[in-house]
Amino acid sequence: MNDIVDSQTAKSYGGSKPSVMEAIKKGLRRKCPCCGEGRAFSGYLKVTGECDVCKTELGDIRADDFPPYLTIFIVGHIVVPALVYMEAILHPPTWLQITLWPTVALALSLALLPVLKGGVVGMMWALGLKGDEQH
Ligand SMILES: [Zn+2]
Repeated sequence: MNDIVDSQTAKSYGGSKPSVMEAIKKGLRRKCPCCGEGRAFSGYLKVTGECDVCKTELGDIRADDFPPYLTIFIVGHIVVPALVYMEAILHPPTWLQITLWPTVALALSLALLPVLKGGVVGMMWALGLKGDEQH
């Protein structure tokens, strides 16, 4: 069944399914991991049911906690060193530190989360994962 869907999808887009890296790159742009043209999201984080260009089914892919994990990992590795560096070198007033860094962390998280979710959805699509696999 999955092979039939893949061959139908591949047939409509140049005869080959995109590689995992290509699918991730398309997903990071919040586009369909198959064609790279249709939107992969119908809202801020809501994955669309199917691509409006190539009709690839995306709605049953569950990325779960991986995009937030990646977001926290990246934002933490940006904000914490910047906070420590600023404190050690510039010695800013406390009110500035306690208002600046939570705001920066929130803004970065809100900006990165949908992008990273697109990349994860692209990776999962390319690997044929739905997020409901049993171990
Ligand atoms: Zn598409």
